[in-house]
Amino acid sequence: MGIAEGAMPPSQDGGKQSGGHRIPPPSGSKEPLKVNVFERLQHTNTELVPLFPYYGPGSFVPAGAIFRGDPELDMGHFFHQNNVDEVVVVYGGNGALLQTGQIMATAKLHGVNTFLKDPRNGESFLVITVTQRQSDNQDQSEALIWRCRKCHEYLHRYEFDATPQEVHRDRFPAFPTLTEGAIAAEQYNAEERTRVCPKCGFDNGAFPLDRWGWKQWAVQWRTINDARAALLASAEQQLAGG
Ligand SMILES: [Zn+2]
Repeated sequence: MGIAEGAMPPSQDGGKQSGGHRIPPPSGSKEPLKVNVFERLQHTNTELVPLFPYYGPGSFVPAGAIFRGDPELDMGHFFHQNNVDEVVVVYGGNGALLQTGQIMATAKLHGVNTFLKDPRNGESFLVITVTQRQSDNQDQSEALIWRCRKCHEYLHRYEFDATPQEVHRDRFPAFPTLTEGAIAAEQYNAEERTRVCPKCGFDNGAFPLDRWGWKQWAVQWRTINDARAALLASAEQQLAGG
């Protein structure tokens, strides 16, 4: 990955040479960070893991996803709707629907699966980033949608407010696409009748949430923030007690 947003050098000419569009110097609120996408994705436990801890207003949020074919693999299929722009960069693939080096903007409503032509082929793989550009001051909303695999009838829709916030209760903020996505999938899975198509009767089965890792990411997000709070509370107690 390149340089995290906020690290852009200030314009040397005050914008005069570049059509008058001036990029302000960094505010200093976000430390510039560098991540190697391959190294980070070796260690990730979720699809769509944010590479940098900045999700606030105006942030660019690159998130990595990694897929490998397997004879037993079934990752299901859902649709993602986002009212902000997303750009996919393919860092490497084989037997995938996307080409290595390909860059593309997604539609505001797009299907999501492994993007492998044959997910059962162990030789196929894909490593991508999906970068969303957080809104500045406007509302931001996302939705996860499940449709019948057989006849495409709508089965379940979960919409959530993803408006980025500058101030958080936690030192490390939640990434709504993952934390809310886990809730969406649990809702879809909760009742069997949600998954049985009202139109054609096809049983679409449960969504394999564990395989996507969002729930585990959300649990770990809660845990690291709780652990940090426990450490600070302990330090405060020790200092107060002399
Ligand atoms: Zn159906």
